[in-house]
Amino acid sequence: MIVLLALLVLLSIAPANAQDQDLRWPLAMSPALSSTFGETRATAFHAGLDLKTWGKTGYAVHAAADGWIERARMSPWGFGRVIYLRMNDGRIAVYAHLDSFFTPVQQKIRAEQQRLGHYSVQLWFEKGKVPVQRSDVIGFTGETGGGPPHLHFELRDAANVPMNPLLHAFKVADTEAPTMRRLLIVPRGAGSLADGDHAPVVVPVRWHAATQRFVAARSVTVFGRFGIGVELFDTANAADNKMAAYRQALIVDGREVFSSRLHRVPLGDKHQVALDRWRQDGFIFANLFQRPGNRLAFYESDGNAGWLFAGGQDLGPGEHEIEVAASDVSGNESRATLTLQVASSYAQALASSAPVENAPAVELVAYERFAVLKLNSTVESQLGEPRVTAGGVPLTLQARPGGHTALISYANLIAEDSQHLQVEVRFGAGSDADTTLTLTTQLVRPGLSQDLAYDQGRMVLHFDAGSAYEQLVPQVSSAPPEAAPGVRATDLGYTIEPQTISFDKWARISFAVPEGKDPSKLGVYVSDGLGGWVFIGNQFEEQRISARARAFGTFALLEDVAPPTVSTLLPRSKMWIDERRPLLRARVVDRGSGFGKELDLEIELNGRKLIHIYDPEADVVEARPDHPLADGEYVWTVRARDQAGNTTEVSDGFGLR
Ligand SMILES: [Zn+2]
Repeated sequence: MIVLLALLVLLSIAPANAQDQDLRWPLAMSPALSSTFGETRATAFHAGLDLKTWGKTGYAVHAAADGWIERARMSPWGFGRVIYLRMNDGRIAVYAHLDSFFTPVQQKIRAEQQRLGHYSVQLWFEKGKVPVQRSDVIGFTGETGGGPPHLHFELRDAANVPMNPLLHAFKVADTEAPTMRRLLIVPRGAGSLADGDHAPVVVPVRWHAATQRFVAARSVTVFGRFGIGVELFDTANAADNKMAAYRQALIVDGREVFSSRLHRVPLGDKHQVALDRWRQDGFIFANLFQRPGNRLAFYESDGNAGWLFAGGQDLGPGEHEIEVAASDVSGNESRATLTLQVASSYAQALASSAPVENAPAVELVAYERFAVLKLNSTVESQLGEPRVTAGGVPLTLQARPGGHTALISYANLIAEDSQHLQVEVRFGAGSDADTTLTLTTQLVRPGLSQDLAYDQGRMVLHFDAGSAYEQLVPQVSSAPPEAAPGVRATDLGYTIEPQTISFDKWARISFAVPEGKDPSKLGVYVSDGLGGWVFIGNQFEEQRISARARAFGTFALLEDVAPPTVSTLLPRSKMWIDERRPLLRARVVDRGSGFGKELDLEIELNGRKLIHIYDPEADVVEARPDHPLADGEYVWTVRARDQAGNTTEVSDGFGLR
């Protein structure tokens, strides 16, 4: 019996390994990558490899193993033209951004496009319909969907979960260790400080040749609960692209306490990249701690999920060494070290803060469950000793270099049904408040479906049960938007803090339609942080305009009254040509709400609609008649409609002889 069990175990492991060794690299050219598994994309993990095609398209793509084509899809966005190979062992290989498919699939796709009358189609094939053998050419590389020319390749297990292909036979030459650039210290909770502040601290690291490691530029004073992050990149021999490493580990006083390994990410959890990464000062750090709600299965921990407690048993007052190790799949490893000065008390930690030059007189910074009020001494010294009340209750002010800090703990100060808390700051003996700040105090509970109204209901946050990862109190402040190219401002705009908060299920934000405005022209936009606005939706219901959101940010209700611009490019206007199936190409641009779907664009030739292809990155739409044209004069029309319904129509003509 024991023998039989052992055999079964062997059988269940051995075939996978054997088959791994047989998997065919997708391209014939020598392997070079521009992205690895687990890199940060805007709202998701990168779930595969990007194979470089050095700026060119049209290279043959080879099947990884025997199997059959299960699915093929065409879209102007995302993966562009993508093909899914179901291998005989049950796993799936995905090849995206293709220029074209091999003939059996290309023909079926074309027939489906003709049947439906548009470009974007998806076909599923049953087993046996389109069989392929290992190494068969199943398509050609391209640049469809997002990005420059390259091949996006994914390997998924039988349950459709993307795996790191570099752990499964797909190897590239790599003798280069990751480069570490910065470490991050994230205090968590009202009692936690890094360099005397509740805000995260970024410390650059430098290569130290004598010890062959990266060393932090300075030490950091900590107290309370905190986590560590690292900003790094990895390169491989064939190209100098900056890519993700594979494994990151946190070592405290010589003991490894936490590690993450980018080996697999379920498709439904790709958005949890927001919990695995931390954006700070324009850099993206890999977290060596698990935030609440993080269910990614690639961490190993000593039980504290990476969180450290300075001032506790493990990390008593005094000096401690933090080490971060990072390695790629080939085992090339780098290390970075940082000295922590653990304070003996909160007050001592606060004393380590450095005065900030030109800091505002009064600053309020919101965290999940508390806010920090900071007062600056330049103003204090002129006006006298500060006094602060919150909801009429005096707050304790703690002295720090450069001024004072007051903690505003929502839990202690806020009544269940309250929506606001007034914080009043007085300098000197006067009884009138010199500065009054208003905190919004509504609590988001992860398990509840909640609608939280702000500004007399002009803005509402809608949370589903399962939207929020943890209890939090959003800080909503009015931020009247500025107009931008293509959009007019309304007076509705709000900044919602803390902006480190993301959601598991989508939340919604809605605005009341202002009096006299045409709802069809209104949309919800989010700030890109660079002075621009990004359209995120315009669902209209019960006199409100709403859109879904995956994170807090600065949102505004804007009005798009600018129609798209359309200009014909080919054939040249009023020209005589001899091409029987001429390419009709136009440039289409919309500022503001933009084009939401392919059918917002149309190309007609002599009144008959053609199947067009839209390239959102090139701002180009094009079509080709499917039958040769007879001699004569032709009129063609391009129609473009943005998401606010503004429409532009341009006609042009050419002759054929
Ligand atoms: Zn990719």
